[in-house]
Amino acid sequence: MYDLQEIRNEFPILQRQIYGKPLVYLDNAATTQKPRCVIEAITEAYTNVNANVHRGVHFLSQRATEQYEDARERVRRFINAKSRQEVIFTRGTTESINLVASSFGDTFLGEGDEVIISTMEHHSNIVPWQLQAQRKGIKLRVIPLREDASLDKEAYTTLFSEKTRLVSITHTSNVMGMTNPVKEFIDIAHSHNVPVLIDGAQSIPHKKIDVQELDADFFVFSGHKIYGPTGIGVLYGKEELLNSMNPYQGGGEMIQTVRFEKTTFNELPYKFEAGTPDYVGAIALAQAIDFVESVGIEQIAAHEQQLTIYTLDKLREIPGMRIFGKPDGSAISFLVGDIHPADLGTLLDRLGIAIRTGHHCAQPLIDHFGIPGTVRASFAMYNTYEEADTLVAGITRVAKMFE
Ligand code: PMP
Repeated sequence: MYDLQEIRNEFPILQRQIYGKPLVYLDNAATTQKPRCVIEAITEAYTNVNANVHRGVHFLSQRATEQYEDARERVRRFINAKSRQEVIFTRGTTESINLVASSFGDTFLGEGDEVIISTMEHHSNIVPWQLQAQRKGIKLRVIPLREDASLDKEAYTTLFSEKTRLVSITHTSNVMGMTNPVKEFIDIAHSHNVPVLIDGAQSIPHKKIDVQELDADFFVFSGHKIYGPTGIGVLYGKEELLNSMNPYQGGGEMIQTVRFEKTTFNELPYKFEAGTPDYVGAIALAQAIDFVESVGIEQIAAHEQQLTIYTLDKLREIPGMRIFGKPDGSAISFLVGDIHPADLGTLLDRLGIAIRTGHHCAQPLIDHFGIPGTVRASFAMYNTYEEADTLVAGITRVAKMFE
């Protein structure tokens, strides 16, 4: 039984009114709202267990350390990583990708080496590689899109060369809400002995992730997109690969011994967690994961997929509606006639409807379509059919004003 009302009751912000109208929050791809248990976990951690982790002999430091490491174990279980050593806490998807670009780059990338990305990447899976291109002279090879905006698998297979060192692609497009068959892409890369990073920012809240089944070499995501707090995220990496990479940042916690003559580094996962980690964020992220598991990720996925189909059917009835890609359960991007996305977004906001407009940090994809941007409605476990109706009615009303 998927009890939407019961779920909604757990999210205090959903009771808010915006301009005197009930909030219709459809900007979940940007960030999700937080259930009460996550908000309370943050308060509880600061109220009762706050102390810096790992270095303390005292009671509170040991409790905080236990909870932080327990959070790591819960993340490990959630994505089915082999060991805790493979779960590194970061600030989020962006930092996780920058960590890999920097550390994998330091160790394995040199002049003329190639990294394969795709046309539909978020800027955070483009710019870190461009910085490596400036620093190290690596080259980016870009997977083109087919007519239906899916990744062109045939073209992808031709991008491999002796110089290919890594593939880094998104699981689900944050613009089109369209999921890529990443397992196939990973298998192809592995047949060339090339490791793969999967950007899971938009897949982690919407589908079961099993990193071993995917056989991803790296899998990255942000806590705030899966009902957890901001400022915490995860880098999963295969142990052997992480062990072979240079550290990312230097500082406390990531070292074993420091002498002016020579410093040795800590073991995994601490080698990549320099400085005081966001242990409160990690504890609250684990709470968010527990919450998702209590509702059931498969149940959430089924609800979001049905809601997407329902919304797509209704949107398609609006004259001048243009939908981008083939949305499969997380987000829908569209334009209506000649209405500028920013105008549509601003007018919908006055109706209490929160959607996002613009390039969604994926300018190459927006350029591919030759448009100024899109309007994007994105879903979470708590969105309702009434909210979809309110969105469609709002768009219809705005479209009439522009007639
Ligand atoms: N990749 C994708 C596909 C995303 O949707 C986002 C967030 N919009 C990011 C990366 C970056 O995530 P964050 O800002 O949480 O680091």
